[in-house]
Amino acid sequence: MKLRAARLTQIAVPLRAPLATAHGRIHTREGVLLELEAHGGARGFGEALPLAGFDLESPTHARAALADAARQLVGSEIDSADAGLGAAARDLARAPAARAALDAALRDLEAREIGTSLAASLGANARARVPTALLLGAEHADGAAAEARRAVAAGFRVLKLKLGTNAFDADRARVAAVREAIGNEVALRVDANGAWSEATAAAHLEALASLDVELVEQPLASEALEALARLRRASPVPLAADESVRDVASAERVLRFEAADVLVVKPAAVGGLGSALSIARRAREAQVEVLVTTFLDTAIGRAGALHLAAALPPGRHAAGLATGSLLADDLAPGPVPKSGAIALPSDNGLGFSPDPAALTRLTRGETLEVCA
Ligand SMILES: [Mg+2]
Repeated sequence: MKLRAARLTQIAVPLRAPLATAHGRIHTREGVLLELEAHGGARGFGEALPLAGFDLESPTHARAALADAARQLVGSEIDSADAGLGAAARDLARAPAARAALDAALRDLEAREIGTSLAASLGANARARVPTALLLGAEHADGAAAEARRAVAAGFRVLKLKLGTNAFDADRARVAAVREAIGNEVALRVDANGAWSEATAAAHLEALASLDVELVEQPLASEALEALARLRRASPVPLAADESVRDVASAERVLRFEAADVLVVKPAAVGGLGSALSIARRAREAQVEVLVTTFLDTAIGRAGALHLAAALPPGRHAAGLATGSLLADDLAPGPVPKSGAIALPSDNGLGFSPDPAALTRLTRGETLEVCA
């Protein structure tokens, strides 16, 4: 494929309500939408919306790196998405969010030109529907219980809560309130985002096990792999590594330390769909499950993660792709979960393109266009 143009648009997407995580309170998702246009007119999309706590570059750095990469690629013949990423590797070396954006846009464009879905281009037996957990945003026990009841009524079978922003007693009370509200048939997972110390984590895990929590994400800081491995050996609850998985090398370290039962893989955090596939392959060799999740991404980022999850063999734990309802606005109207799962779109590539009116609403600042 030959690129005729690349467009970089700065966007800011407000959340419906601020989301409290152990890394801080998130009000708005800011970053860059990348649009690649081929000579035949086909277009591919990717986004870089770096989130705090994952050692990612700033939105400004992501935009600059993507501009450099675009100048490198536009006008030249690109044999494949991987070849395009290789050619821009130097520009993106310290910008994993930008790399993920270029990776998605190239793969989207490539799949659209071939006439296949992105999922089919990532794996041979893509699933048509991907079961997903729903992230509950409410900070207090009553609100979380009410939100959980609505989620179960909407068909979700797996719910997730963020912990670590309050004293543990308050967190436990919120988990207990949700468990009480949803009964024993619906799974509940929690995410500490690295907030606990090794000294307190074991007791927290015991308390959560008594509330039938299915999975605890990132109980300890991302670098504490030896401690995480010790904690896991005695844990009554499966542990997932999330912030510890930042690229292929860090995922391999987690596997080598046997520090997690599950690897959480966010294409947006690990440098893109290609890296995520490599991590999934290594995890499979180590017989560790991979769980694909989104990052409070827009519809474009969520669609990429959906295709990746669909392309991977199903695991015991549902993916984490239902974060769109936390946004107050979005680039496109889907993908939307129905009855606890998200269906793959029928169109080629990502299956979604930004809605022009939505893009105008969410654009901040000038769009940079690189033409051949
Ligand atoms: Mg997490």
